[in-house]
Amino acid sequence: MTIRVGVVGAAGRMGAEVCRAVAAADDLELVAAVDPHHAGVAVREATGVDTDLTLAGDLDALVDAGAEVVVEFTGPSAVGANLRWLLEHDLHAVVGATGIDEADLTVARELAEARPANALIAPNFAIGAVLLMQFAAEAARYLPHVEIIELHHDRKVDAPSGTALRTAELIADARAEIPDAPLGDDRHPGARGAAHADVRVHSVRLPGLVAHEEVIFGGTGQTLTLRHDSIDRTSFMPGVLLGCRKVASLDGLVVGLEHVL
Ligand code: NAD
Repeated sequence: MTIRVGVVGAAGRMGAEVCRAVAAADDLELVAAVDPHHAGVAVREATGVDTDLTLAGDLDALVDAGAEVVVEFTGPSAVGANLRWLLEHDLHAVVGATGIDEADLTVARELAEARPANALIAPNFAIGAVLLMQFAAEAARYLPHVEIIELHHDRKVDAPSGTALRTAELIADARAEIPDAPLGDDRHPGARGAAHADVRVHSVRLPGLVAHEEVIFGGTGQTLTLRHDSIDRTSFMPGVLLGCRKVASLDGLVVGLEHVL
């Protein structure tokens, strides 16, 4: 049996990649693609997928097409409202867009508990990045002094990245102590990055980059560096497709790809 999949943000860099990956999977069927900024454009033109679908301007197209699972790759300003809409319409959601705020997350969690649809939110669908986060949490138990450098292409809207925020939270949960802040003033504001969960995060934005993260631990006479590089957006697709296959069997709203691996 094939799973009927809709994609929201379908004309974007990630959305188009998801359309191609879903169309190429034997057990998934691309039944609707939504992107209000490109409504009316042929999906074939926007994504290269061999289909007669047209990009829809609103989410109703997902219900009309009988989508069962919807992949959301818009961005920080749209993802909260879209996720709420999907759950209210009993559509399982696989969410890759980052920057969802705490209030929207709380509403979505309550909806996913109250209604039949589930949600999987993953700040990073690349297996290597998921492993990096797990290794970072493990290392933080022994090496509590740590900073994160995340590097992305210059079209990324949010900073720090969702992956960096999640890595910082996992580190904070794992380490037994919060080390004293290093000495030194901040004569150039921002030089020490942003603090999230008491972990310093530095965001680099440059053309040529895709999505990269380095976690540097410091100890007595030694450092440990963990690094992951997504050098192509196809790196996220096995995780997204796995999410499409597993989301219906989750219980409510789940954050992190590790829960379906
Ligand atoms: P993009 O700007 O290329 O694409 C976003 C698309 O969403 C655009 O085509 C835009 O028209 C569309 N859009 C905007 N508002 C919309 C709405 N209300 N309804 C439907 N479509 C709407 O961005 P991108 O590089 O594809 O990244 C998208 C998101 O995915 C970002 O938040 C990014 O951080 C995140 N991301 C997540 C992962 C992951 O593994 N979870 C990986 C890469 C990127």
